[in-house]
Amino acid sequence: MPKPIRINRHGAHDIAIEWDNGQTVAYPARFVRLNCPCAQCEDEVTGKRIVQDSMLPILTYPTKIEHVGRYAIQIFWSDSHSTGLFTWEKLWELADKIDDWKGSIKLPKHSLQ
Ligand SMILES: [Zn+2]
Repeated sequence: MPKPIRINRHGAHDIAIEWDNGQTVAYPARFVRLNCPCAQCEDEVTGKRIVQDSMLPILTYPTKIEHVGRYAIQIFWSDSHSTGLFTWEKLWELADKIDDWKGSIKLPKHSLQ
């Protein structure tokens, strides 16, 4: 599994991760928030998602990103949520799901910024 070399802002709100395999992935902020792995957002036993798109403000974005050791980042969100730790493994796994998520959006893309 690759590891991040650099984690930056992408555009106004999104997150770009440069991986050590040469790939750079732009993660839409809302997509990352919806995939928060903490116990408030995902049922620890069943793995079922608790946080739903309709529960988030239209504009949801990271206000702060902090490194946790050498294995994860903690993201502080504009909806005051910050308990999720996004491990490299989780972020790498999410990279593959971005296109599907974009395809499932019903709102016009510009309104998600
Ligand atoms: Zn969460």
